[in-house]
Amino acid sequence: MRIALSHPILIISRIIIREMGTGMEKIKDLERIANQILNCKKCELWKNRKNAVPGEGNPDAEIMFIGEAPGYNEDVQGRPFVGAAGKLLTTLIRDKLGLDRKEVFITNVVKCRPPNNRDPKPEEINACSQYLDEQIRIIRPKIIVALGRHSTLYLLGKMGIKVGGISHVRGKMFRGVINDVNLIIIPTYHPAAALYNPKLRSVLEQDFEFVRKVFENIKKGAEILERKQISLDAFFT
Ligand code: SF4
Repeated sequence: MRIALSHPILIISRIIIREMGTGMEKIKDLERIANQILNCKKCELWKNRKNAVPGEGNPDAEIMFIGEAPGYNEDVQGRPFVGAAGKLLTTLIRDKLGLDRKEVFITNVVKCRPPNNRDPKPEEINACSQYLDEQIRIIRPKIIVALGRHSTLYLLGKMGIKVGGISHVRGKMFRGVINDVNLIIIPTYHPAAALYNPKLRSVLEQDFEFVRKVFENIKKGAEILERKQISLDAFFT
């Protein structure tokens, strides 16, 4: 029996092989960057760190969460968002998006803890941001949730969008390209802000519900495209 090149078996095999290859390459690339971060001395922050915090999660994550910098617990454990703010983030990811934190990718703009949790300086963001850029290029998320002012300023800045304050842009969607990746940025408050000001908790919850709606719409769009692809393949087989 002659099997047409567009036969579903061949298409599926090609997809599996391609995805396995891509997955392995992504893991290797992310590990390479993590090693560079662990040994990095490009800014002063390396001097006081216990551990650099490269980030963690699914190399194929469709959603990335990006905060500004590690805090005390993150510095001790070498993992992102593991303190009280991290607990809140994990809860929001689970309850509002129906996802486990292992299914997304979580990191920060700056990978070492600034002393006493001060804001990262512009020169530290400049020195460190190449690592985040590479992580975005490798993971190719569909949505980035920017957590807090510094993350929002950096990411929207990469799209050429100038931001006054986070309250003007939170809960909105910005479509654009970062490092050749077409994606949507949704800024919101940093979860730590909701710990200091409990009124912000409901705002964060509202923004995460918006993220869920946008994500569902993206998935619906992808399903429609996939169905169209299958019907076209059937026609040519
Ligand atoms: S904050 Fe970033 S640039 Fe600075 S030492 Fe750590 S990894 Fe390197």
